[in-house]
Amino acid sequence: MLIKTPQETWNDFLKFIEERCSATEFENWFSHIKLIQSQDEFLLEVPNIYVREYLLDNYKRDLEAFFPLLPNGKLALSFVIAEEKNPLPEPKQPSPIQEHETDPALKLNHLYTFNNFIEGSSNQFVKSAAMGIATRPGKSYNPLFIHGGVGLGKTHLLHAIGHYTKQHHRKLKVQCITTEGFINDLVDHLKNKTVDKLKRFYRSLDILLVDDIQFLQSRLNFEEELCNTFESLINQNKQIVITSDKPPSQLKLSERMVARMEWGLVAQVGTPDLETRVAILQHKAEQKGIKISHKVAFFIAERIFNNVRQLEGALNRLCAYSRMMGLDVTEEIVEKTLNELFQLQPSKRISVDNILKSVAIMFGVKVSDLCSSSRTKDVAFPRQVAMYLAKELVNESVMKLASYFGGKTHSTLLHGWKKIAQRLGKDETLKRQIQIARRNLES
Ligand code: ADP
Ligand code: MG
Repeated sequence: MLIKTPQETWNDFLKFIEERCSATEFENWFSHIKLIQSQDEFLLEVPNIYVREYLLDNYKRDLEAFFPLLPNGKLALSFVIAEEKNPLPEPKQPSPIQEHETDPALKLNHLYTFNNFIEGSSNQFVKSAAMGIATRPGKSYNPLFIHGGVGLGKTHLLHAIGHYTKQHHRKLKVQCITTEGFINDLVDHLKNKTVDKLKRFYRSLDILLVDDIQFLQSRLNFEEELCNTFESLINQNKQIVITSDKPPSQLKLSERMVARMEWGLVAQVGTPDLETRVAILQHKAEQKGIKISHKVAFFIAERIFNNVRQLEGALNRLCAYSRMMGLDVTEEIVEKTLNELFQLQPSKRISVDNILKSVAIMFGVKVSDLCSSSRTKDVAFPRQVAMYLAKELVNESVMKLASYFGGKTHSTLLHGWKKIAQRLGKDETLKRQIQIARRNLES
């Protein structure tokens, strides 16, 4: 079997990076790193601690794709700092026009662009809202509030707005912060008695991008300051975009804050359906420079369906393995390397049939009624519940899901889903019924 040496792997990694970053970046950050022990351990000598941090901050995922992982999931890679007598030359000024280089102070991930964001039915709406904001900041919805589960692309879209506005509205002052970052900033300025300076800074922005507002829930002392900042910016028609793991109404924040956040447009990123997951996998594989067939992408996407970050993790592991072994990615290799990452086997996954059965029992109707065209209330309501559950729990296209209901159209299914989704906020009994149905189906 063909196993690459550490030196060959390192060379491959460098070659891969060189094709993806600017010459200046490569010269500054990579050309001074040495692989100093190349027997069976990966040990990198870096000129200083910043190079290590830079590498891990910006290229961790790529490193994971090339180098093996330890059983605990950490990279099998260690670093030593070169002796002081051999300092790294001062970083050169970056060349001015490089598409992926944005203001480093903005801390945008250079891969999180609109071009790298794959669209599907679960995120089409939120992506176009984000694009709308980026094209005409401050002129449409304000704030844009993006919410959704972990690893579904919220930060990606937020940074994409940052990149786009930086490139297309060069004069605008953009700031992208995490809620934690904002709080830390505020604490520092409080300590130094320079809060006014901070306030002036935030209030002079044209675009403020705030990631993970849910963390404000545990730091309520800081809520008022952020709320004042939001108000001041909105009053000046300056754009705000906020991300969160929950919709505003479910955040434990003051009424005033929730009202501000609901002022503009609230949009959700959902879990991508099968076709979108396949497209994401293929796009990410291409970025990493590995080839996976449609069949293999399908095989993985069928088994990993909760979030995109897990899909990426799987792909990274697969890349590492196939590169180390010098093997092409086949279904067998996928099974072998990713088995424990796979979520429920496809056969155990929730099917529309099971949903129909559960809902029929719960509401005392027949499955055949749910699939009929009867519009009596006794049947129409449980049918909408089943449609809601199908859309939430089964990863298939809306058209396909609708077909299970006696060949209904996709708009009927979406209508049913929407009816229930709207009612859930106000109807506690329905909320409990849905929870019970979900639990039964998932167990
Ligand atoms: P969140 O902030 O919602 O937890 P992230 O934005 O950090 O999730 O996304 C997790 C990973 O998944 C990122 O690497 C991101 O690039 C990727 N990702 C998520 N959605 C998409 C998408 N639609 N297309 C391409 N990549 C995506
Ligand atoms: Mg995030």
